[in-house]
Amino acid sequence: MNYSTSDTIVNALSFDIEDWFHMVEIEAVSDTEKWSSYPTLVERYTDWILEQLDNTGVNATFFMLGWIADKYPELVKRIASGGHELASHSYWHRRVDILNRKEFYLDTKQSIDAIEQRSGQKVLGFRAPSFSITPGAEWAFDVMHDLDLMYDASLFPVSRGHGGYPCPHKPHEFVGAPSGKPMMELPMSTMKIGPKRLAFSGGGYMRLLPSWVIKRGFAQMHRQGLPTVVYLHPRDFATDAPRVTMPLHRKFKSYVGLKGTKKKLNMLLTNYRFDTCAKLLNLSSDLTTCSPKNELT
Ligand SMILES: [Zn+2]
Repeated sequence: MNYSTSDTIVNALSFDIEDWFHMVEIEAVSDTEKWSSYPTLVERYTDWILEQLDNTGVNATFFMLGWIADKYPELVKRIASGGHELASHSYWHRRVDILNRKEFYLDTKQSIDAIEQRSGQKVLGFRAPSFSITPGAEWAFDVMHDLDLMYDASLFPVSRGHGGYPCPHKPHEFVGAPSGKPMMELPMSTMKIGPKRLAFSGGGYMRLLPSWVIKRGFAQMHRQGLPTVVYLHPRDFATDAPRVTMPLHRKFKSYVGLKGTKKKLNMLLTNYRFDTCAKLLNLSSDLTTCSPKNELT
């Protein structure tokens, strides 16, 4: 795989498109029947993100919940018409490692169908809610093969609240599926600080860490000739998001540093080169193979 163009590494920019109430294992927002009655921020902040990308001529991957694609079909079309990649972030935002094989198949298929119908793009990639492909859930890769997915971006190579998976800290072929079939894997980036490794380029990690640490993380990756994978959510920018009742450590991680995220995204867009996950993995040639079924909306 060749990630660099001239002397500059091209990184992967991704957004997990969900609303403020799509939080894994938080009781207060777990009743899916109530989701439609909540105030929403996902369109407003995704449109803001699209504007920043448009202004800087950058394309990104939008890992979208099928639930969001069904509820906001016009948003999917706006993302697609900006030249961005649409990928799956599941339908209901449930942890993969608590589902069985059939449940995971049905959920992921429902999300792919919802996204493809609105975008006209073939979905190539998947990212598990909360990076929840953990040891023991390798069967999920075989389900992805069954669904004709080409890459996964769910592995988190250091331990975290919802698991983590010991794997190489760089894009690689994952060969741990029960069938032995390889799948392209774009794991989260990590940086070395002393004896430890730490995520630095997404979500709560990016909100918490000062810009100089994030830049150091990029520099470490680039010195090894590797791209950095960035992931953010619309709610990472939402200082006005409703506050959800949850344990203190989750509260800190959910709401720390919201004010600085817009500035950090613009710092990244100014300082580094980015493209979609599919492009980074040389998978982009076939992004528009299914035709949009606009009338279904
Ligand atoms: Zn998510």
